[in-house]
Amino acid sequence: MNSGITELKQQFAQTFGEGGKIHVIRAPGRVNLIGEHTDYNDGFVFPMAIEPHVLIACRTRDDSSVRFASSVFPGQIATFQIDKPIPRGEPKWANYSKGVAAELIAAGIPLPGMDAIITSTLPVGGGLSSSAAIEVATAQCFLTLAGLKMEPNRIALICQRAEHEYAGVPVGIMDQMIVASAKPNCAMLLDCRDLSKQFVELDERELRVVIVNSMVKHELSSSEYAVRRKQCEEGVEFFKKENPNIKALRDVSVKQVEAAKDKLDEVIYRRCRHVVTENRRTTEAAQLLGKNQYEQVGQLMVQSHNSLRDDYEVSVPELDFLVEESMKIKGVYGARMTGGGFGGCIVALAQPRAVEALTSHLMSEYEKKWQKKPMIFPTTAAAGVTVLE
Ligand code: ADP
Ligand code: MG
Repeated sequence: MNSGITELKQQFAQTFGEGGKIHVIRAPGRVNLIGEHTDYNDGFVFPMAIEPHVLIACRTRDDSSVRFASSVFPGQIATFQIDKPIPRGEPKWANYSKGVAAELIAAGIPLPGMDAIITSTLPVGGGLSSSAAIEVATAQCFLTLAGLKMEPNRIALICQRAEHEYAGVPVGIMDQMIVASAKPNCAMLLDCRDLSKQFVELDERELRVVIVNSMVKHELSSSEYAVRRKQCEEGVEFFKKENPNIKALRDVSVKQVEAAKDKLDEVIYRRCRHVVTENRRTTEAAQLLGKNQYEQVGQLMVQSHNSLRDDYEVSVPELDFLVEESMKIKGVYGARMTGGGFGGCIVALAQPRAVEALTSHLMSEYEKKWQKKPMIFPTTAAAGVTVLE
């Protein structure tokens, strides 16, 4: 970690010149342990921050210019002015940071000019939320240079708006919330309705989380995502007729879904069943994890996967394969696809001593079956955004 910081500061000096106080901000990626396709139904998610992260080195300027560089896009420098409208445009990667600057200004925060350089141990576009890490780190850079503090929830909402407005991606609030608020060695149960959070300790002596990227690009995900959202809305319309207090699938019980089986369209019924049972699994998993009931948490993760595969129909055979193979390893409590689906990652919960066997098993079996290498990240639960220097 230290060598990473030294190297980054050297890169900063090469790009923007020596001198002045350089601050270094770290923001982690994230993984969702359970609670998938529940966020836009006002439900629960249970993410944690992971060790792979983004680092940004930054220094204040005495004019109103902002310059961003990134080690991932060498030679490109994005420049804009904080006292003029901030246009989105090229290079595209800088739109996330531009959006954050624009939304901070819109929120009435006086920003200083800044030079900043980004480096990262997170895969770019790998489903571990490099985008939220960049956004939250950028916000923290500006706030640090301005000498201001801001509530994590407010930072998260500003960063979410930035992604909506500047990257054109209609993301939920989970990614920004966990990156801004995570506590070390904790997962976070987040109520997506009122943004209340509950931290649950994840003992690093007893548990590892292993993320496995199937390397399948989720090409279908945005069109299918829209279809799923619409199907959930149809479900809500149905239940609203029975009870006008129902505002979202969050308000529907498992019993109510079962009772509606013959009245609802079969596909809508299964979509609703996934969301409603997933909300229950998610709150249960958080409780059980708090009581160190790892086997039961693992079972809920597998049930979640099966529900996403069969009822919500957002899995792909590669993800099913990774989950099935993970569960063959002694010391693996549970595994499931994580993220929107149609590709991306699975997440497994395992004893630390099972990690090596799990990694080598998946490496060899996955490549044999699918002719590609998965990317594997074992991790503990990391801290949220941090000012390192
Ligand atoms: P994910 O959040 O799953 O990694 P996204 O597609 O949401 O994937 O966000 C990826 C985008 O975030 C990239 O296309 C790029 O614009 C930006 N980004 C991520 N990492 C970096 C980086 N190290 N430097 C500059 N931009 C980055
Ligand atoms: Mg993202």
